[in-house]
Amino acid sequence: MEHVRCLIIGSGPAGYTAGIYAGRAGLKPVLYEGMQIGGQLTTTTEVENFPGYPEGVSGFQLMEDLRNQAQRFDCEVRSGMATAADLSQRPYVLTIDDENKISCDSLIIATGATAKYLGLADEQKYSGMGVSACATCDGFFYRQKTVAVVGGGDTACEEALYLSSLASKVYVVVRKNYLRASKIMQERTLNNPKITVLFEHEVVGLYGDNGVEGAHMLKKRGQADESSFDLPIDGLFLAIGHKPHSEIFASYLKLDEVGYIITEPNTPKTGLPGVFAAGDVADSVYRQAVTAAASGCQAAIEAERFLNE
Ligand code: NDP
Repeated sequence: MEHVRCLIIGSGPAGYTAGIYAGRAGLKPVLYEGMQIGGQLTTTTEVENFPGYPEGVSGFQLMEDLRNQAQRFDCEVRSGMATAADLSQRPYVLTIDDENKISCDSLIIATGATAKYLGLADEQKYSGMGVSACATCDGFFYRQKTVAVVGGGDTACEEALYLSSLASKVYVVVRKNYLRASKIMQERTLNNPKITVLFEHEVVGLYGDNGVEGAHMLKKRGQADESSFDLPIDGLFLAIGHKPHSEIFASYLKLDEVGYIITEPNTPKTGLPGVFAAGDVADSVYRQAVTAAASGCQAAIEAERFLNE
């Protein structure tokens, strides 16, 4: 079985930054990119808040830059997905793509998170036929059409703003009577003439013969004036949060109720010696590219210290 000193799982800002630091520290890290190469940022549009890019940068370009930077310092980037883990003893063993095993002295888990769905049967039924969780990926198909985005956070606002440049009309469906998004994103969304925010509304189903033609809506659920109606739309975009990719580590590490890996306060240490968690898989609070990158840096520094000890 192949053995490495430092194994990094995941290719978002956390994974690649860990690769840069571990590479520069001479740990000869091996990084497996996982299913979504470059992580969630490759499905986002413009990133305006990553330091060092005063004009903004596309999520795809940012991840390309980070990847190249990691490779420059001898981080070996491989395609492959960690499908099982045995952290019961050292060296730790990971299974890649259900077949190849690799052991390591230190492990940096930077597996990220993915978008959540509402759990409606209709989401499955219309998957790829009008239901999406990625405006950047699928917005193109809705030029001059009507779409709805579910959610009231920054992701929902960002998706709605992006879609407003393509679609003729964008509804934002928010279950509460306020947006949770940051002030600037709220203002941009509320002031966009193509966007209408439907507060206290929920999507409870979809209809259409050959793809989505509309959504069954519920207004003011559980209140005296609860009502329902159908909203004609051509596409539904989900932007209601994310699920961390921690399943394969669940038997060995402490997770919170959602599945985020719990680390020691202000460190990427998981409680298992030499195992560190960085980025969105361990961050239910900030979930930013820059905070993910920072925790990847911390994880690599801790891995180096651990290996030196
Ligand atoms: P959030 O958790 O912030 O928001 C999720 C939204 O979806 C909330 O409005 C929530 O409603 C709603 N929601 C959750 N479940 C359901 C459901 N079953 N039905 C209907 N609505 C539902 O997630 P985001 O993905 O928006 O953001 C995650 C983090 O990433 C945040 O910290 C955000 O600031 C950050 N982010 C930053 C960006 C940037 O700075 N450019 C861009 C995108 C994200 P409720 O409020 O009722 O719970």
